[in-house]
Amino acid sequence: MPRNRLLAILLLRCPVCREGATFRSWLRMYPDCPVCGVHFERETGYFLNAMFFAYALGFVILAPTALYLYLRGVSTGWFAAIISAETLLFWPLVFRYSRVLWMHADQLMDPRPPMPVEAPRPPETPPT
Ligand SMILES: [Zn+2]
Repeated sequence: MPRNRLLAILLLRCPVCREGATFRSWLRMYPDCPVCGVHFERETGYFLNAMFFAYALGFVILAPTALYLYLRGVSTGWFAAIISAETLLFWPLVFRYSRVLWMHADQLMDPRPPMPVEAPRPPETPPT
């Protein structure tokens, strides 16, 4: 039984089977799901839409800090330095979660089934 979609997003799992890992390292994705075999990049430029999720995530992460710094009245230089440092600190997480969020949103809008498991070929018959 597939796991809950929210849990699959939090664990950065495949949008189709919700079991396979999407990232092999911090910034490198698997091209295909290691469990169900679905190809993650549906078409060229597929992950450009993940930018919208990255903007939203960046806003959610940076806005509280920016508001706090503004209300504390810190100088413009310190404001820029702290926000830049926070951006660099959270960039890998935003990168990963924006891609996974986009893939899950796309799966909800345009579902695709798991790749069929390749059936074994029948033995070739010799020509008669
Ligand atoms: Zn999968």
